[in-house]
Amino acid sequence: MNIPGYDDWKLAGPDERHEIGNADGETCNRVPEPDEDAPRGYRPKPCEGVMERPRVNGKPVDNFVTCDTCGEIGD
Ligand SMILES: [Zn+2]
Repeated sequence: MNIPGYDDWKLAGPDERHEIGNADGETCNRVPEPDEDAPRGYRPKPCEGVMERPRVNGKPVDNFVTCDTCGEIGD
């Protein structure tokens, strides 16, 4: 098979997500779970929050980051 763009399409599997922030200062980009009350065809917007390290007593905790908007924890 040699269809232009086929490999790109094939590599972008259904599990492929747009990039989400997992480092300090990155944009969160997480899409919230679909709301069952949402209208049909509603597409939730990716979170615009910023990933940041929580601080404990003024010191950044360095083993994880959280979103300042939705509170999701990054890797
Ligand atoms: Zn977020």
